[in-house]
Order: sequence, then structure tokens, then C-alpha cells
Amino acid sequence: MRPSWDQYFLKLAMLASERATCPRMHCGCVLVRHKHVLATGYNGSLPGLPHCDDIGCLIVNDHCIRTNHAEMNAITQAAKNGVSIAGATAYVTNMPCTTCAKALIGAGIKRVVVFSDYHSTHAETFFREADVRLDRQEMPETLIKYDLADYSSAKSFDSCKDEVSERKP
Ligand SMILES: [Zn+2]
Ligand SMILES: [Zn+2]
Repeated sequence: MRPSWDQYFLKLAMLASERATCPRMHCGCVLVRHKHVLATGYNGSLPGLPHCDDIGCLIVNDHCIRTNHAEMNAITQAAKNGVSIAGATAYVTNMPCTTCAKALIGAGIKRVVVFSDYHSTHAETFFREADVRLDRQEMPETLIKYDLADYSSAKSFDSCKDEVSERKP
């Protein structure tokens, strides 16, 4: 079935999460306004610094503090590129932590869509107080439906190569 816009952007957030580098959590975030992707993020180390996957987590008070969270990375990507995210929707795989929730609110995010919860967060309270709409949705299907064999106009590279070589004199 064709995914709804919300399911589509949640699925993009899941795809972003595949780049995460902390084994304790894989999280993805996509910032969207008017069905247009403004920025994406996943939880990972700061640029150039080693990853939890390579050197282990850095645990403080039962949280790994080595990574920037997905929401923070999406917000900082937008800042780096000079993209306003005011009025945008944040699609996140998990309920934001308290710090990310506050950053999203401060950056002008007006709606947050998630499909799973996160331990010990006050996000929901802050969202309610700041009048940010929070939507919990079903987790989208994890399967990406794309099979070249299904499409009569598509060809694999191998068959394209054959065609090119056939055209040679
Ligand atoms: Zn970690
Ligand atoms: Zn966070």
C-alpha cells in the first residue's frame, strides 16, 4: 500500500537511523516543512571524533554522552546550512529526550511525530506547555518495496551493459 506522508517521513527517519553509531540506541530524525525535507540526522559522534561502535560508549549517569542525538544533528545540520526550521515538523523514530525536546521547541518546531517512547524524558510535558503537537503513530513497515523485476521500464546495469555492447560496431 502507498504510504501516507507521515509514514513516508517516519520511514525516512528510520533510514537515517541506519547511520547511527551508538549501539545503545539507533535514532533518526527528519525535519520537514510543506512536505519538503529540510534536514536529517541520526545519533552519532561529532564530526571527526571516534564512534561508540569503534571505541565503546561514554557512559555518564546511565546515558551515553558520546553522541549528538539525531534531533540535535538535524538541527545543527540546518544551522550549518543556514536553513530555517521554524514551523517545521520533526519526524523522529523515538520520543525525544528532554534536551532535544527543548532544542526542537527553541528552533520553532511545531509538530513532532514519533513511533516509540524513550526512557526518562520530560519531552511530552515541555511539548504540551510550548503548544507543540505530539503525534504517536504506528511504526512504518521496515521493508523497502523496490524490485527491478517489477518494473517493465527498468533494467539492471548488467542488461544495460549488454545493450551498450550490442550497439558497438
Ligand atoms: Zn554510545
Ligand atoms: Zn536527545
